[in-house]
Parts: sequence; structure tokens; C-alpha cells
Amino acid sequence: MSKYDNLLNKIIQNISLNSHPGRHFHCVFDLDSTLFNVTSRTEKILEDMILEKDFKLKFPTEVKKLDNLLVNHDDWGIKDVLERSGVDNPDFYKKARSFWAHRFFSNEYLKFDRPYLGAVDFVNELSDLGAQITYLTGRDQVRMMIGTIESLKQWKFPIDLKNTHLALKPHFKDEDTDFKSDYLKNINSHHEKIYFFENEPVIIHKVKQQLPEIIVVFMDSVHSGRADPLDHWPKIKMSFLK
Ligand SMILES: [Mg+2]
Repeated sequence: MSKYDNLLNKIIQNISLNSHPGRHFHCVFDLDSTLFNVTSRTEKILEDMILEKDFKLKFPTEVKKLDNLLVNHDDWGIKDVLERSGVDNPDFYKKARSFWAHRFFSNEYLKFDRPYLGAVDFVNELSDLGAQITYLTGRDQVRMMIGTIESLKQWKFPIDLKNTHLALKPHFKDEDTDFKSDYLKNINSHHEKIYFFENEPVIIHKVKQQLPEIIVVFMDSVHSGRADPLDHWPKIKMSFLK
């Protein structure tokens, strides 16, 4: 019996039965909130923030309230975390948001991410079956490339040069949705079947519209709210296991 979610098990079976020299499979994974739970990245950044002298001096009340801060997996950014602790000072929010964003989108804190249950084994199993693996992420090359490679290595995701690819945005200002749909358009060919794993509905809508032949698996974890997921999308919820 497979340990994976039924939907994922079917993908493994399909690749294992139908892979041959004339037919290749390509599995494309988003990173943040698809393979990695980023909750502990935000938690660590905020913990470091309230230890900063500058914050303690300027915002003693807010810093004290954040003593037992709690980051939930479905928090988007830091607004909910602050509200939960009873912090509603706009000046503090502005400064905290900037402190957080500067570190969240950096190499330094990626080591605090945790892969979702079963993610590492699942991606390795697909790679062992001969599927091409691509990590397609809205992280940008300049600020996050080194930390991304280290984090993939740290958790033992496959990263060999022959069968895996890493695609980060050339510039942080590039739009995630365009970057990913353009990338998928480029690798899409008649010889390849593509599976795409992603947590952001606004990206999935665009990919489905432009490339209906790609099979998309929605990771139901957390998203920006810029678009809603559809009920009939194949999905997994916060885990790759049953
Ligand atoms: Mg994501």
C-alpha cells in the first residue's frame, strides 16, 4: 500500500507504467507553501525582531505583547500575527512589515522552512522513476538563489544537474503569474506530460486557461486571496501523505 495521498499515488503509477524513451514526464513544483511550509520562517524573523534594541526602545508595549507570538500556517504576511497578539499600532506595523519582508525574501532565513509531510519522499520517488523535476518559484535569483539551493540540499530534495532544474525569477519585480505561465509555455511540448503543483489560485487559473493540457495539483495550504480555488480542482491539503 502506498503511503501517499490517492491522487499522488495515481500520478506515481501513471509515470511508472507509461514512462519510456519516447514519452517523458515532467513534474514542476512551486516551493513556498507547496513543498515548504514557511510558517517557521516568519516565526523566526519575528522572534529576532523583538530582540532588536531598536524595536525594544521605540515600541516597548508592542514588543512585550509579542512575547508569546503565534504564527499560524494560514497567516498571509504578518498582519494576522500582530492582530492576534493585540498589536494595532500602524507605525509599528509599518516598521515590522519592512523588517519581516527584508528577511523573508532573503537567503538567510530559508533554512527555517519545513517541507510538508511526505514532500521529500514524493519528489525523490518521481525523480527515481525518471521524471524531470523542476522547482518553479516566485523567489528571485538575486536575493534567494543560494539559500534555495542550500535548503533543497538540507532536506534532501533531488537536485542533480541532469534531471532537475531550478527556476527563480530573474528580478524580484517580475510578476509571479507571468513568470510561471511563460516558463511552463516554454517547456510544454508534445513529447512531455507536465504535472504542476502550486498553492496560488491566481497562477493556476492562468495556467489552466493558457495550457489546459497541463495537469495541475492544487496545494490547499495558504494563498494571497487574489483569486479563489475551484472545488473541482485536484488537490492535496498540507500533506503529501494519506
Ligand atoms: Mg507558493
